Order: sequence, then C-alpha cells, then structure tokens
Amino acid sequence: MTSSASTFPLPPGSTIGILGSGQLGRMLAMAAARLGLKCHIYADGPGPAFDVAAATTIAPYEDETALAAFASAVPVATYEFENIPLPTVAFLSNRIPVRPGAQALAVAQDRLNEKTLARDLGFMTADFAPIDSLADLEAGATKLGLPAILKTRRFGYDGKGQAKILSAADIKSAHATMRGQPAILEKFVEFQSEVSVIAVRGADGAFAAYDATENVHRNHILHTATVPANLKPKAQSAVIAAAKAMAEAVDYIGVLAVEFFALDMARQEVLIINEMAPRVHNSGHWTIDACTTSQFENHIRAVAGWPLGSTARHSNAVTTNLIGADHDGWAKIAADPGAALHLYGKNDARPGRKIGHVTRLSPK
Ligand code: AMP
Repeated sequence: MTSSASTFPLPPGSTIGILGSGQLGRMLAMAAARLGLKCHIYADGPGPAFDVAAATTIAPYEDETALAAFASAVPVATYEFENIPLPTVAFLSNRIPVRPGAQALAVAQDRLNEKTLARDLGFMTADFAPIDSLADLEAGATKLGLPAILKTRRFGYDGKGQAKILSAADIKSAHATMRGQPAILEKFVEFQSEVSVIAVRGADGAFAAYDATENVHRNHILHTATVPANLKPKAQSAVIAAAKAMAEAVDYIGVLAVEFFALDMARQEVLIINEMAPRVHNSGHWTIDACTTSQFENHIRAVAGWPLGSTARHSNAVTTNLIGADHDGWAKIAADPGAALHLYGKNDARPGRKIGHVTRLSPK
C-alpha cells in the first residue's frame, strides 16, 4: 500500500478522491465540505458532482495516466457507483487506499457473488442459479420453478438488465435480452414489502446502522423511502445484523446498503436478502434531514478515517424521488414549508432520470 496510510485520520483541508460524477458524488462532496474536507471527482464525463467539487478530472476509467495523476493528487479514493471497473480500483489500490476496497466491490458488483456470500453467511436469498447459456436457463427454470427473474450478473440497476419469466414460452426471449452476458436466474419472491438498511463501517471496524427504511418502487425506480419501516423490533435487529455480517465478511469501509424482501408481515420472521450496494444509497437520502449525521457524512468520515457519527434519527421521514418530468414542480415544492427539497442540478429532465428528491419530516 502506501505511506499515506499513516496520515489517517485525514485532517480538515484534505482532499478525498471520488470516482463518479452523479448525484451521490454531489451529496458526498457537500457532506465533506461541512467537515472542512474537499473532493476531487474523477469521471468519464461531467455530472452533478462537478458543480460542488474542488477539483475534477474527466478521463476514461481505464486511462492509467489519468488515474496515476489522480492517485498522486488525493490521499484516499472512494466511489459513488458500483459499476467502476475492478481493474481501475486495483490500479488505484496499488497507490492509495480505496475505500470500500476491491474485495467488497468484487462481491457487490456481481449478483452471483453477493447472493452466494449472503447464503454462505446463513442468510436467506431467493433461490438462484448461475446462467451462462440457454441450456442453463432451461435447466434453471425447471429446477427453481416459475415465475422467475433473469438478471445480468453485473451492470444492472433500476430494473435494467432484467427479464421476468412467467412461463416456459418466455425463456428464449428472456435469454436473448441478456445478449450473452453472464446472468443469474432468481425465483420470484412474493414479498409483502421491500426494506433496506443503510449501515456504515469505519476503518477501525466500528459499525453503525440507520433504522431500516421501507421502499416502494414505480417503474423499477425507487419512488418513496419511509422510515420507520413497518418492521417488528426483532426483524429490525435481524436486518441490521445481516448488514453487519456482510460488511465484516468483506472488510468493508464506508457506507453500504443492503436490500431485503420482507415476507409474512404477520410474523415478520422471514427476510430475504436481495442485494448489497457498496455505496451511499437512494433509500438513505432521508438521513440528510432526519439525522445528526447523514449517510453521506458517515461515508466521508469512514473514508477519511474519522470516528463514525451518530446514526440516531430525530424524526420520522418520507423521501420521494423527483423523476424526469417532476422537474417543473420545483417551485411548488420550494413553497411548501414542510418539504426539504434537494435538486441535483440536472438540466435535461429526461424521462426516468432522478433529478432530485424531497423529504418530509414528522415527529417521532
Ligand atoms: P434489483 O435490481 O435486484 O434490486 O431488482 C429491482 C426490483 O425488482 C426489486 O426492487 C424488486 O421490486 C423486483 N425484484 C427483483 N428480484 C426479485 C425477485 N427475486 N422476486 C420478486 N421481485 C424481485
């Protein structure tokens, strides 16, 4: 590794490197600024984070000259999306610490790896099978039963790279949509609700988690995130314990999100891990307005080697994503005294694009 490891905790005035220029990078940079830290954003194109960054680099993620210059400009790097090529993280890791590390990224960016880890740790997942060919898919559909969902192992988000298989007649077309990419077949789960946990693990192994969030999706995109989730205390503890075990298994540093399907709301004893995101997460945006320390600040704290901040929440909250055409509603929301409005500075409000969010608090 590098001599810069000895400089942790990074003092105020230090600059943290962030791979990715999206809204998550923007909110990370804003949280860093609150602590007197700066951010240098490296991305293959400009994005919302550029508006609030102390320094920027535009270069392909494979450009080793640009990556080497980036590594010499920052004492530590992190990332705001999980589709960063692993060789990019490996290249940087030879020069500076990258948090979370390559091991965590390798698990979290591959659905087969993350489901295998969750199952090996003793947690429930949907039944699954790796799919590398049409023959695998035919055999997998027979073994797991239908309906099932075929997903690309990597690079999927917001329902992209997924095909639902309701009957044997859908198998060929579902396979074609994968375009030869390695895939995973998952048995369809009749869940009652979707829940996520945002957790943080420090460089010293300290662990903290926010209260679980209940998530509702529309058109495969997160629509609302509500806290508290409708979970009994035992289930709340179980999801946090699962996030802790996942984080420890990959020696995680930073904020991670683990998403679950909750079955059987009457007993609430069955929670199925769906996926793990190695980054701050859309379902944790309420932490900006409802907590002393937001998910963004806690990620920055962990990456900079600072002590973790409190994850306690002072209010109940509902966050609603603003998507594409919602852009025109900003003035109305801005006039609502109960609304905490966050806009990401995206000028082209393309359909399906997350352009901001609004959080409404209520007393606990
Ligand atoms: P993912 O990209 O895995 O988060 O999937 C996107 C959404 O599709 C989830 O939030 C669920 O609403 C739905 N979904 C994914 N996997 C399953 C499954 N195995 N059973 C039922 N619904 C699923």
